[in-house]
Amino acid sequence: MNHHPNPTPHLDHPNPGTARHAVALNAVTKTYPTPGGGAVTALHETSIGFGTGTFTAVMGPSGSGKSTLLHCAAGLDRPTSGSIRIGDVEVGALDEAAATALRRERVGFVFQAYNLIPALNVADNITLPLRLGAAPIDPAWVREVAARVGLTGRLDARPAHLSGGQQQRVAIARALITRPDVVFADEPTGALDLHTGRQVLALLREVVDTHGQTVVMVTHDAAAATYASRVVFLADGRVTGEAFGPSAQEIAERMNRLGEGRACGT
Ligand code: ADP
Ligand code: MG
Repeated sequence: MNHHPNPTPHLDHPNPGTARHAVALNAVTKTYPTPGGGAVTALHETSIGFGTGTFTAVMGPSGSGKSTLLHCAAGLDRPTSGSIRIGDVEVGALDEAAATALRRERVGFVFQAYNLIPALNVADNITLPLRLGAAPIDPAWVREVAARVGLTGRLDARPAHLSGGQQQRVAIARALITRPDVVFADEPTGALDLHTGRQVLALLREVVDTHGQTVVMVTHDAAAATYASRVVFLADGRVTGEAFGPSAQEIAERMNRLGEGRACGT
């Protein structure tokens, strides 16, 4: 054991657990009302952080709270209790307008169903988040983002004229256009064939490796989860474990133990 006269163990990370996390949930509980007047607790006092510049896959059986976790972390939904920090900003402390602005500028979201606007062409779909803000749109940046996702030359096309993989790449470009710190993706390859799905996963990996952004992705697919460096397992609204760099087989075995065998779907 080395003894330093002036130990500075936190020199790299003066505020461990906060500054290093692009997003952190602290004891987040989310309860939804049910039609009968009851309530379902989708997340139970969940605490988890996502390190800046990391790629995390979130896995768990259907109904385990994966989408709820993502929606709360991304500010698409408010937790019933607990707190969420994006970077060093406590989201719950912001008023609605400030929270909306933070979400628009620092967070991107990719859905399984793409959620493009059919009447708008690719360029207008990609720049939609910028149109909602005040900043002017830089055409060179739009072209760069389109090139990154392999959509050069398709900026005038309508979504209906694109393949599913191309539509999801438009959605990823839309998520990246604000230069967000974090991109959340909820089953982004769920509607795609294997080959096209891999292209989308490689693109998300590149977002982390080349651009240092943070990606948090929900997936049902063990092979898809291997594109992440960390896999977090959820069951019944609780984080039950995690693995770093697991193989697809290790992931599948853990999913079986969580009961994924008895419940499939989203
Ligand atoms: P997953 O994405 O892992 O399938 P969800 O986060 O969608 O799980 O759902 C977790 C639990 O919360 C489920 O029991 C689900 O039925 C319930 N739930 C999710 N969203 C709502 C909602 N808007 N209203 C009522 N219950 C919901
Ligand atoms: Mg879901």
